[in-house]
Amino acid sequence: MRPRVLSGIQPTGSPHIGNYLGALKNWAKIQYDYDSIFCIVDLHAVTVYQNPAELRAQIEELAAVLIAIGIDPQHSSIVVQSSVPAHAELAWMLTCVTPIGWLQRMTQFKDKSEARETVGDGLMQYPVLMAADILLYQAALVPVGDDQRQHLELTRDIAQRFNSLYGETFTMPATGLPTVGARIMGLDEPDKKMSKSAKGTGHAIGILEPVDQVRKKIMRATTDSRPAVNPDDPGAGVANLLAIYQAFAEASDDDVRVKFTGMRYGDLKKTVAEAVISKLEPIQRKYREITSDPSYVAGILRQGADRVSPIANDTVEKVKRAMGLYTA
Ligand code: ATP
Ligand code: MG
Repeated sequence: MRPRVLSGIQPTGSPHIGNYLGALKNWAKIQYDYDSIFCIVDLHAVTVYQNPAELRAQIEELAAVLIAIGIDPQHSSIVVQSSVPAHAELAWMLTCVTPIGWLQRMTQFKDKSEARETVGDGLMQYPVLMAADILLYQAALVPVGDDQRQHLELTRDIAQRFNSLYGETFTMPATGLPTVGARIMGLDEPDKKMSKSAKGTGHAIGILEPVDQVRKKIMRATTDSRPAVNPDDPGAGVANLLAIYQAFAEASDDDVRVKFTGMRYGDLKKTVAEAVISKLEPIQRKYREITSDPSYVAGILRQGADRVSPIANDTVEKVKRAMGLYTA
């Protein structure tokens, strides 16, 4: 049997090029080397308030985007997290072996709870649910962006603690980071990671965004007051644009150095915009094709849940037996 790969994305808004370069592109590339499961993690999304009607639409949009960027639903399972109840069930069991201190140290928890009047308990439990998503399928590899590195370390800590308390139960998952594009920054604030949930209109480039708008946003990206590109010592904004170019064009470090050294920022931005648009256009065409049949995506999601549920239920049974919980 092929080793298993699992990864997830939250339906917290329209997916952006950071999601694509950090995670989705890699999913499509490696899917055939693994038994692949890609999860739309709606239970994670509700750790912060989501408008219910929008959430539902975002789940469907995201499923179609995953197919449009190249996930093959006949080979890989695309699953909505909440349609497999075992995710929440295993999360509870893992909660009980996770020290609170481990969760309080998570940087994403600190960032996301900042400036909120009340912080839901779910936001703190987020990494435990993520550990459950991964361990439920005994995944060997989890391809994610750099911001999830700490959560993956925690997943391994939780698995190890469970295994040492109750006996070998879980596979240790490895973190799969892309070499370029693991951390794309906001175009308006190049010191902050590009995020779906960030508010600024010039912040993120959506995978489905009209290409004229993409061009405008890139032309307006924050850079600095230097006259031209120095790839060996770029400011944060220029470094981000170079990373976006390099990842979209699949260029080497040398290609980038040769192409951009001494280029004025206006020309840099035009070149980056064309590289991004040439990759987004076919994805957007495929998306329109997929969504022209409104029942297609629902069928894929049903098939995904049916395919993975037996694997998830097996793990929950195994965990229950290991812990001494009652099984029939
Ligand atoms: P939110 O703001 O709601 O957390 P997000 O943009 O961070 O949304 P997630 O759904 O949390 O997106 O993450 C999905 C995947 O995309 C993860 O593997 C994550 O590491 C990756 N990712 C998210 N943002 C970036 C980024 N700016 N650069 C590279 N990868 C990213
Ligand atoms: Mg995130």
